[in-house]
Order: sequence, then structure tokens, then C-alpha cells
Amino acid sequence: MENYSFETKAIRAQLERSENNEHSVPLYLTSSFVFDEAEDMRAAFNDEDDTFIYSRYTNPNTNEFVNKVCLLEGAEVGVSTASGMAAIFTTFMALLKSGDHVISCSSVFGATHAIFTKYFPKWNITHSYFNTNNVEGIEKLIKPETKFIYLETPTNPAIELIDLEFVSGIAKKHNLLLIVDNCFATPYLQQPIKLGADLVVHSATKYMDGQGRVLGGVVVGKKELINDIYLFGRLTGPSMSPFNAWVLSKSLETLALRMDRHCDNALYIAQKLEGHAELENVSYPFLPSHPHHQIAKKQMKAGGGILTITLKGGYEAAKNFLNKLQMIKISPNLGDARSIVTHPASSTHCKLSEAERLNVGITPGLIRVSIGLENKEDILKDLLQALK
Ligand SMILES: *Cc1c(COP(=O)(O)O)cnc(C)c1O
Repeated sequence: MENYSFETKAIRAQLERSENNEHSVPLYLTSSFVFDEAEDMRAAFNDEDDTFIYSRYTNPNTNEFVNKVCLLEGAEVGVSTASGMAAIFTTFMALLKSGDHVISCSSVFGATHAIFTKYFPKWNITHSYFNTNNVEGIEKLIKPETKFIYLETPTNPAIELIDLEFVSGIAKKHNLLLIVDNCFATPYLQQPIKLGADLVVHSATKYMDGQGRVLGGVVVGKKELINDIYLFGRLTGPSMSPFNAWVLSKSLETLALRMDRHCDNALYIAQKLEGHAELENVSYPFLPSHPHHQIAKKQMKAGGGILTITLKGGYEAAKNFLNKLQMIKISPNLGDARSIVTHPASSTHCKLSEAERLNVGITPGLIRVSIGLENKEDILKDLLQALK
């Protein structure tokens, strides 16, 4: 499969046919597997072969999904989990011990921020945040007990970019791991491992599913790290369900096609909305006005499906705008075929203090728009009528 292009891998890297010669991959809804002989079960438990044992460990469907993501990200191996947060938490818990320190971009997914601030102190793990506009400052944050640098790019929800090659250079120089949450870009637009990341985590719930149906997560990367993460997950149980893996493997077949359309639609809408009288700002990585446009062009194939708009009238104007939308729905999700709007300050990031929010660019008038696969003129029409 290695020599095929992205689209072909996403479609053709599937499970071997069973003796039934099915064309579409079957769903293996089984919690455990049977052994012909006592000796076979002993061998499986002693890691002498990789036969299936129990679906908390592995399952044909989760294996298929993980193998596909590895091929698409250019990773050695991986582990699937029940959600994106399960992938992130399992990775942290498998790699960290009491006394360790981590460095993260300050603009990080709300629940990840909560792990750093609410739970890490309980286990004597400390963290430092760097600002997206000061990646040079990362070096000053490094301590002897620092274990890894963690980041998202583009960031959620402010859509800022971090130069992956630059940060991986810092990580290598100081012998730190680099872990990247690649949820917003997907491997179709950006492959952090090729730019020096050691591990990539995903919420498969978003673009990988692409239709807002199932939760899922995956972490892929270096074998010796994944081994620890796999073992931790196998013992503590954040496993992905075979059904979700089956859905997600099929979804990946159309990832390239969907991302092309998401990106085309989002760029078109960003261009049309830029300069609108009611808007203070439109932020989209592939708009030349974006402060990190050069980084975006360097490491991303296209700008992604998310843009933000900032209304001049603050929260009141944002609320009116959301309530006036006719087709587009208010929801916390993103990466769906349907366009979605979210007001981060009052929802996904409401647990942060006002100062913390402003520090990561979440103003009261900021709205995150996840541009869907509907006709771009219909999306634009709905946004424009709500801005009136
Ligand atoms: C949604 C999301 C997560 C969490 O994923 P779940 O599947 O909801 O657990 C993590 N990181 C980013 C960037 C996300 O958008």
C-alpha cells in the first residue's frame, strides 16, 4: 500500500476478505475470540503471535481503522480509542509520571486544558503554556523534568498556526517528544510526523467521521511510544467500539474528497465575508490577511474547513446572529457535512476565565464556523442574511 497515493490508500487499505468473499468489510461485533487449542490461547497471551484475543485489546475493525490512519499519517503504528479525549488522556497517562513537566500551546482544546489545570496537579505533573505568537519562547520554558511539547495547529477555536518544523527542531535539540493534535487539519492537509512529530493524536469524531455520527480517537507514531500507550489502554479500557471503527474506516474512504470540498467552500466564504460592515475580523489560514498565512502555506495543503468571524457588536451581536441563522445550526461539533456555528466564549470555553479566554483570542464577538459540504452559495446566503 505504501506506494499508492493518499486517496487510494484511504480506500484500498482494508481488511483481507474472509472466506465469504464479501466486497465491503464486515463488522466484527464480538467481544472475544475463540482458540482451537489450549496451546493457541497460551501463545496469544504470551505475545507469541498477534491473533485476536479480546476486543478491549484489538479487533479486526479497530485494526483496520488504525492501519489506515497510520498509512495516511506516515506513522509506524497506532492505537484507537473511544474518543479524541480518550486518545489524548491515554497518551498522557502512558508517557508521564509524577514530577514530570509538559509544555503546551495555550490555545488548546477545552478538555485538554482541563486535564492540564484540573487533574495534572493531583498527580504532581506541571505544565507551562506558550503563546502561538511566541514559539521562540518555548525554549525558555524547558526544565530538566520536561517530557514533551504538545500542540494543536490550526488551534481551536482561534485558528492560529504553529510552525511544526520549527517546534520539532526545538524538541529534537532538547530531547523532548513532540505530540501534535492534528484534528483540524487531518492527514490530508498536514502530516506532522513528516515534519518531525513523534506522535499524532486525533479526535476521529470530527473530519474522520465527517458526518457527526460516532465518537472516536486515535494516536499514531513511534513504535516504542505506541507500545506503552497500547498496553496502558489495553489494561485501563478506553477502547474504540468495533462498530465505530467500521464506520470510521468507511468514512476515511471519502476523506480527501470531503476535505477538498470543505476547503473550497471555506475559502470562498472567508473571501466573501472579509471586509463585511458588521464584522471586525474574518480569520482563515489561506486568506493572505491571516497573520500566520505563510506558515499555513508552508505546512498545509489547503486552509481547512473552519473559519472564525468576529462581530463588531460583541456577545449581543453574536447572539443575534446565531439566532437569525435559518439553515446553519448551533452545535459544539465541527467537521460535519452540515455547516455548524459555535460561540466559544459562552459554550466550549465558558470554563476559562475572561482573562484566559482573551489570552487565547476568544473575544465575546468571536464565532467559529465549521463550513460543511452544502452548496457554498446556500451557506453564504444564510450567513449574510443573519449578519444583516
Ligand atoms: C473535539 C476535539 C477533541 C476531543 O475529541 P472527542 O472525540 O470529542 O473526545 C480534541 N481535540 C480537538 C482539537 C478537538 O476538536
